Amino acid sequence: MVTMTLHELYEKACRMLEEAGVPDTAYDAFRLIQFITGIDRSDLIAEGERRIDDRQAENCLRLLKKRAGRIPLQHLLGETEFMGLPFSVDPDVLIPRSDTETLVETALEKAAEMQSGKVLDIGCGSGCILISLLHYLNRGSDETLWKGVGSDISPAALRTARINGQRNHQEDLITWVQSDLFDEIPPETYSFIVSNPPYIPSDVIKDLEPEVRDHDPLGALDGGEDGLSIYRKMIPQARRYLEPGGWLIVEIGYDQKEPVRELFTRYRFTGIECRQDLAGLDRVIAGHM
Ligand code: GLN
Repeated sequence: MVTMTLHELYEKACRMLEEAGVPDTAYDAFRLIQFITGIDRSDLIAEGERRIDDRQAENCLRLLKKRAGRIPLQHLLGETEFMGLPFSVDPDVLIPRSDTETLVETALEKAAEMQSGKVLDIGCGSGCILISLLHYLNRGSDETLWKGVGSDISPAALRTARINGQRNHQEDLITWVQSDLFDEIPPETYSFIVSNPPYIPSDVIKDLEPEVRDHDPLGALDGGEDGLSIYRKMIPQARRYLEPGGWLIVEIGYDQKEPVRELFTRYRFTGIECRQDLAGLDRVIAGHM
């Protein structure tokens, strides 16, 4: 049995995570203790001397030990937030990143001039891009103006995406399709094709943080020898699935702007733009037909 005050538990938690080289120790320590005990930030300051129930303290320490073993915080909590919405996460899907919000915001901006349409998400993983897009595109309207198709090569990822569709009340608007890129996509045209494909060069993967390298699905990271192999297959095929004026919007690695822009140009996309994420890194390429 461990008997501790909230303050002692928090200090120990930070120490455990720091020693393990976890990047965001204070935040992760707080979130895990909050998950078990239900405390909020002000309790940490005002109620530091409160004694934590022994069982709860042990449960916190058990989770903290896992986090110190570099299991991602999101896997321990079972969820994360993306575009202000809750998403269930598990080892079958890439954990949604705030970087990817740049892609969603770019699509929302382009869609502002359109009344309605269809969105295709290639390699949807958790479904966070498609689900958040449809949430914001249809918000405040009585009719369903926007619908979508979410595809992934992984049936396990699609199971999680489906759960997230239900969780965010978008299930009726989305058709989920198991497909290797466009292979099984219904032969229709879409106003938007969005994608965050795997784009890390194969031999860079071993150098990634353990949370990513050991816990995100490899199939969602590995972009082949130079990281560009999925773009080379996807960009030429995308035209056939876009309406006139339709947009292809993809996430890219910080150093992939030039080669991906070149692929957009070669396959006759116009109005090609690059957007940066909050860290100022090139993160999104968009172009239309
Ligand atoms: N942005 C992710 C990372 O660097 C990679 C996602 C991807 O390959 N699409 O961890």
